[in-house]
Amino acid sequence: MASASSSALTPGGTGAPSGTTKGSGRHQVVVIGSGFGGLFGTKALKRADVDVTMIAKTSHHLFQPLLYQVATGILSQGEIAPPTREILARQKNAKVLLGEVTAIDLENRTVTSEVLGRVTTTSYDSLIVAAGAGQSYFGNDQFAEFAPGMKSIDDALELRGRIFGAFELAEIGAERGDPIEGLLTFVVVGAGPTGVELAGQIAELARRTLRKDFTNISAEHARVVLVDAAPQVLPPFGEKLGRSAQKSLEEMGVEVILGAMVTDVDERGLEMKFKDGTVQRIEAITKIWAAGVQASELGKTLSEQTGAALDRAGRIAVNPDLTLPGHPEVFVVGDMISLDNLPGVAQVAIQGAKHAAKEIEHRLEGKPSKGPFKYFDKGSMATISRFNAVAMVGRLRLTGFIAWMMWLAVHIFYLTGFKNRVTAVLHWFVSFLGSDRSERTTTTQQIFARTALQRLPGGPNALVSPPGSSEERRRELEEKAAEEARLADARDRPVSAG
Ligand SMILES: Cc1cc2nc3c(=O)[nH]c(=O)nc-3n(C[C@H](O)[C@H](O)[C@H](O)COP(=O)(O)OP(=O)(O)OC[C@H]3O[C@@H](n4cnc5c(N)ncnc54)[C@H](O)[C@@H]3O)c2cc1C
Repeated sequence: MASASSSALTPGGTGAPSGTTKGSGRHQVVVIGSGFGGLFGTKALKRADVDVTMIAKTSHHLFQPLLYQVATGILSQGEIAPPTREILARQKNAKVLLGEVTAIDLENRTVTSEVLGRVTTTSYDSLIVAAGAGQSYFGNDQFAEFAPGMKSIDDALELRGRIFGAFELAEIGAERGDPIEGLLTFVVVGAGPTGVELAGQIAELARRTLRKDFTNISAEHARVVLVDAAPQVLPPFGEKLGRSAQKSLEEMGVEVILGAMVTDVDERGLEMKFKDGTVQRIEAITKIWAAGVQASELGKTLSEQTGAALDRAGRIAVNPDLTLPGHPEVFVVGDMISLDNLPGVAQVAIQGAKHAAKEIEHRLEGKPSKGPFKYFDKGSMATISRFNAVAMVGRLRLTGFIAWMMWLAVHIFYLTGFKNRVTAVLHWFVSFLGSDRSERTTTTQQIFARTALQRLPGGPNALVSPPGSSEERRRELEEKAAEEARLADARDRPVSAG
């Protein structure tokens, strides 16, 4: 059991908790998630008179915007996913708890989390929920096995294995005289920033890095296809930047197919349907899904307990100050929220989490409420290839090298940890000034392990004994042995005549 402070948060004039605490004497804040919202929320509470418990299902903080560079061999996973424990080691009032949150009880103010059969219940006085979003296959979850998404380190490493592995298999296939077109075709579904960045990187990988590495195949002739149902690439960036990005991609040899809805995905390819009803199939062993998002399942439980509406992407409608209806002590931030059409970007999560942390601090110090959350849009950007990006800052629309330099500066600034920044910059030198990639290592397990685990009834939990079960088993065996000894003893004893 984790800490169980039972503070009574008496609503003040604004209906906000007053922060009176019993038990440990400190106000207990639980933060769910170690992503942008979770980490920045926890850090923002550094000087507050509270104890913070950050509960997350991974032990790292993931910088999702650079996942595509792990998938294409530019960066290592460690550079974009430093351990949360290390980041928070000097924050005395924060502790990290590994576990997937399976339940939130708003009435009793507890969070239940679980890792490999170990269940922990943590009490809170204030709660910040920042569990983010996962990939959405729009009701076709069966596509996931053949077209992994790009949401986690597992995804990126699996994709790295599939992308580099496809070139290797094509090399063998060419030697044997097998057809290799499908192996050398890479399809990215979704022409948002992630899809555009991935397609651009796979094209650069094939045309620059792998160009001279193979004997039997010409890697530079690999076919890279970017598919989207929308009529333009990068819809949130507007028509002009979308057109510019599409032109750059096409100049790099990426085939852009718009207005095409992916209707089927299998091991060997995918099928698309166009508005006029025509259906087209592309034979491609490597497919990547970068098309949709679905907010964390935790939104559902919060909605059921508060009546707050969920939108189609599972995002929960929060009050303007990011709290839940009837629960001023619970804040929801980042990709999980539906408020004023805020986009699912890192800054919404960071600023929302800081807002929530400040509000908690204000309440504890008896200061006036901060009121509604105000988002400051710092702009958006997407890279297309080395030295080429598009950026939107206020009314400014930038393309090419200037936008790419902005992208570089912002990513160096926001990458967590000094050593990560240094090594990432070194790797960027290797890849952008030269043509090499430092992180091309792949393993068979990276490619197949997750699918194998998913097929296993019970998933990874089936592979470990639940806690305490070995002692239980030992006791069972001892009891059985004692019983057998007793029976043997009774058999050996002479029968008495009474
Ligand atoms: C490939 C990719 C590229 C992107 N590029 C950009 C970009 O260039 N610029 C930009 O601004 N944004 C970008 N984004 C979006 C941005 O990363 C998100 O908006 C941001 O991460 C949202 O932060 P969050 O805290 O809400 O969620 P996340 O950062 O996703 O964090 C969620 C956290 O919750 C944890 N979690 C989830 N469920 C549970 C549970 N049940 N129990 C315990 N822990 C749980 C997760 O492990 C994780 O730690 C990108 C996203 C992706 C996937």
